[in-house]
Amino acid sequence: MLFEGARIVRTQVAIIGAGPAGLMLSHLLHQRGVESIILESRDRPYVEQRIRAGVLEQGTVDLLRASGVGERMAREGLIHHGLYLQFDGQRRRIALSDLTGGRAITVYGQQEIVKDLIHARLAVGGQILFEAEDVRLSAIDTDQPRVSFRHGDEAATIECDVIAGCDGFHGVCRPSMPEGALRVYQKVYPFAWLGILAAVPPSTHELIYAYHERGFALHSMRSPELSRLYIQCRPDDQIEAWPDERIWRELGARLATDDGWTLTAGPILDKGITTMRSFVVEPMQYRRLFLAGDAAHVVPPTGAKGMNLAIADVRILAEALAAWYETGRTDLLESYSATCLRRVWRAEHFSWWMTSMLHRFDDDDEGFQQRLQLSQLHYVCGSRAAATSLAENYVGLEQV
Ligand SMILES: Cc1cc2nc3c(=O)[nH]c(=O)nc-3n(C[C@H](O)[C@H](O)[C@H](O)COP(=O)(O)OP(=O)(O)OC[C@H]3O[C@@H](n4cnc5c(N)ncnc54)[C@H](O)[C@@H]3O)c2cc1C
Repeated sequence: MLFEGARIVRTQVAIIGAGPAGLMLSHLLHQRGVESIILESRDRPYVEQRIRAGVLEQGTVDLLRASGVGERMAREGLIHHGLYLQFDGQRRRIALSDLTGGRAITVYGQQEIVKDLIHARLAVGGQILFEAEDVRLSAIDTDQPRVSFRHGDEAATIECDVIAGCDGFHGVCRPSMPEGALRVYQKVYPFAWLGILAAVPPSTHELIYAYHERGFALHSMRSPELSRLYIQCRPDDQIEAWPDERIWRELGARLATDDGWTLTAGPILDKGITTMRSFVVEPMQYRRLFLAGDAAHVVPPTGAKGMNLAIADVRILAEALAAWYETGRTDLLESYSATCLRRVWRAEHFSWWMTSMLHRFDDDDEGFQQRLQLSQLHYVCGSRAAATSLAENYVGLEQV
C-alpha cells in the first residue's frame, strides 16, 4: 500500500486518472509547488502500452518541451510540415508549415508521452497509485472533498482541496456531479474506425487522408518502422470479421492512386474498432471538482484533437490552481470552464468538419452529399484561404 498504514491521507489536489491529462496536470502542479496524488484504475504496463493518439499540435510540443518532458520526443518524434488529402485517385498536399508561419505537427505516440510523464513524476517522488479500485468521490459540495478507494485489501481516503477528474469518457468523476449540474451536447456518427498498428515502414513520409467511395482511409505512422492505418467501418462491425488480409486489401483499394503508388503491407501488431462521437459537457466544473480531457469532451479522431485538448485543459487548470495557492486569487479557477470551452468548441467544429468532409454516409440522398464533399475537397486544395483554414486548425490555434 502506498500510504503505509495510513487510512486517511491529505493532499492538495487529488487527480483521478493517469492518462495524458492527469499525468500532465500532476507534472505541471509539481513544478509550481502544488502537491497531488494520482489514482489510476489500471496497472502501469497497461497504461504505458495503450495505443491511441499520436499527432501533436505545435502548442502541445512546445509545452512538453518547456516543462522538461520533451527530450525523448525531440529525438524520436517525427516532425511533419504537410499532409495529403486524397480523392478521385489523386493526392494533393496541404503545406501546413508554409500556410501557418512555420508551425508543424509532431508524430509521437500517446503511450510514449504517458511513459515520459510517469517517469518524470516518479523520478521526483510523485505519487501515482496504479490499480486503485472502487474510486468514489464524496463531500463534493464542500471545500474539503474526499476520494475513497481500495488498493489490494486495504481501503483509504484522500482529503483534498480540489479533485481533478482526468478519468476519461467512462470515468467516475463526471457521473459524480449532481443531476442537473451539467448540460450534455452530443452527436454519434453512423460509422466507426478500424485502426491497426503494423510493423512496416510507412509507405509515405506524410499522413494521407483519403476520401473514397468505399469509405474513408488514413495512412499514418508512429516511427520509421511502425505504420498506423485506419479505415472507416460500420459501428457494429466485429474485429473477428476483419482478418489481416481483408484489412490490407481494403486499405490498398482506398489508398490507391492513378499513378501506380502502392501500399506496403506487413505484420499487424494491434487492431481495434473505435466508435465515433462528438461530446461536450458544460460547465467543466462543479464547485471544487474540475473535469479535464476526455472526461469533459470527446471528438471524432479525424481532426487529431483528443489528446491535444486534454493537454490544453490541464495547462489552464494548473495555472489557475497555482495562482490560487500562490496568491489566493480565484478568478482563473472561476473562468476555467469558459476558457477551456472556447478551444474545445473550435476543436469540436474542426473534427466534425473533417469527419463530414471525408467519410462515406450510407444515407446519402442520391449522391447529394458526395457531390458536396468533392466540391469541398477541391476548394480546400485549390484555395489558399481554405487550405490555410484547415492548416491552422490542424497544427493548433495559438489563440482561440
Ligand atoms: C480507443 C481510442 C482510440 C483513440 N485514437 C485516437 C487517435 O487515433 N487520434 C487522436 O487524436 N485521439 C485518439 N483518441 C483520443 C485520445 O486518445 C484521448 O482524447 C486522450 O486519451 C484523452 O486523454 P485523457 O487523459 O483525458 O483520458 P484517457 O487517456 O482516457 O485517460 C483516463 C485515465 O483514467 C483512468 N480511469 C478511468 N476510470 C477511472 C476510475 N474510475 N478510477 C481511476 N482511474 C480511472 C483510465 O484507466 C485512464 O488511464 C482515442 C481514444 C480511444 C478511447
